[in-house]
Amino acid sequence: MAEKDPNCIFCKIVSGELGAEKVYEDDEVLAFLDIHPSSRGHTLLIPKQHYDGLLSTPPEMLQTLVAALPKVASAVVTGTGAEGFNVLQSNGPCSGQMVFHIHFHIVPRNSGDGIGLGFRSALGGPIEDDLSKTAEAVRAAF
Ligand code: AMP
Ligand code: ZN
Repeated sequence: MAEKDPNCIFCKIVSGELGAEKVYEDDEVLAFLDIHPSSRGHTLLIPKQHYDGLLSTPPEMLQTLVAALPKVASAVVTGTGAEGFNVLQSNGPCSGQMVFHIHFHIVPRNSGDGIGLGFRSALGGPIEDDLSKTAEAVRAAF
């Protein structure tokens, strides 16, 4: 973990080197509007310290982030008048992660807005899988 990564866009937003439409901050977390929104009010929630993704973020920081999530999501939904929202968090280039400073997307949703969930539409439906074998492999990895 680096306190700050000099090459990281989100660290630059935290330090003020780069501008952003900030909607919430406290000592440890910051929320700002996504510059390429999927819907009006699409917001990113990040820790102020730099961690690449979910697996490198200490549990205490994750607790802090997740505790802030409903507070920020509630304001986003109320402020935009949305009916609901999705929370998305990507890890690794294969998942679509582009910025390697952990973040949660809060995407306001409305009935019939036509927004798909990437991991569903890409597959076009559920895959064939041997659930018991897969579950065994995952259990063995703990
Ligand atoms: P991800 O694909 O989960 O890594 O998402 C990164 C998100 O950061 C994308 O949705 C980008 O639109 C957003 N983003 C990149 N640069 C900026 C920026 N300077 N200010 C706000 N959002 C940004
Ligand atoms: Zn960073």
